[in-house]
Amino acid sequence: MNLYEKSTIEAIKASHNFKLSKSLGQNFITDYSVIEDIVYGSGVGSDDLVIEIGPGIGVLTDAAADVAARVIAIEIDDKLIPILNETLAHHDNVRIIHEDVLNVDINSVIAEERSAGSFGGDVKIMGNLPYYITTPIIMGLLEKGVDAESITVMMQKEVADRIKAKPGSKAYGALSVAVQYYCNVEQVCLVSKEVFLPKPKVDSSVLKLTLRENKPVKLIDEQIFFECIRGGFGQRRKTLLNSLTGVRGMGKDQVRNILESVGIDGIRRAETLTIEEFAALANAVSEQEKF
Ligand code: SAM
Repeated sequence: MNLYEKSTIEAIKASHNFKLSKSLGQNFITDYSVIEDIVYGSGVGSDDLVIEIGPGIGVLTDAAADVAARVIAIEIDDKLIPILNETLAHHDNVRIIHEDVLNVDINSVIAEERSAGSFGGDVKIMGNLPYYITTPIIMGLLEKGVDAESITVMMQKEVADRIKAKPGSKAYGALSVAVQYYCNVEQVCLVSKEVFLPKPKVDSSVLKLTLRENKPVKLIDEQIFFECIRGGFGQRRKTLLNSLTGVRGMGKDQVRNILESVGIDGIRRAETLTIEEFAALANAVSEQEKF
């Protein structure tokens, strides 16, 4: 049974009286090459643990379970659980967690699996993400310090473009700086909207986010760094002098002095700042707060 074939998906829907839910972002993959791009693009090996977000009827889970030592698939939809139990019954290395991924303590799951000896290698997170919570899922994993080597996930092309954007481009924003601070970002492939059931309105993109062992900049205070980024991009059409006024209670003169001290012109906008410049700015704010 090829789970990516439209006829198989239709047969499963009919036999389980299952209806695809738009609100849960259920757009299923119908092209095997996309499955290969995600599973092989992640670099998963035979000793590794895969954590899959949103398995649907198990199309990626099935392919990952053929390669990895162990696969944990996290699915929110009650109606998909009996389907997954059926479609994945021939694998003895798959565990389904029936839960909202945003409520799962993934590091505890990884620690549990490691101590049970179910894998000895790396942890690779993958999935065709539900589009309505792509950013909370990715930022949640990164901010909680997920104990994984990489995150290889499909998302709307527009969100992927924002994540991988460079300074000076229209797509560059707080999400770009935040994800690039935690990860090395690579695009694995572009995916046409034609290969999903049902067909979404927009094309998709698969990104591989490899968690950095060493961050690209040294920070005195991570929270201040993120507050400067949010403040700067919160009003992205304003100059830095204006958009940063009010961040951590700073007045305009304080902002002017800080920008001057790190050689950043106050008439620039946040979208022109590199991650190194944001770090210099945040560190100057941190230094000033010491006095
Ligand atoms: N992996 C399948 C595929 O590629 O064909 C399905 C991908 S579909 C885009 C997204 C999946 O995420 C659906 O199965 C949906 O039910 C599930 N999902 C949606 N919200 C979720 C949440 N908060 N936690 C866990 N799974 C969720």
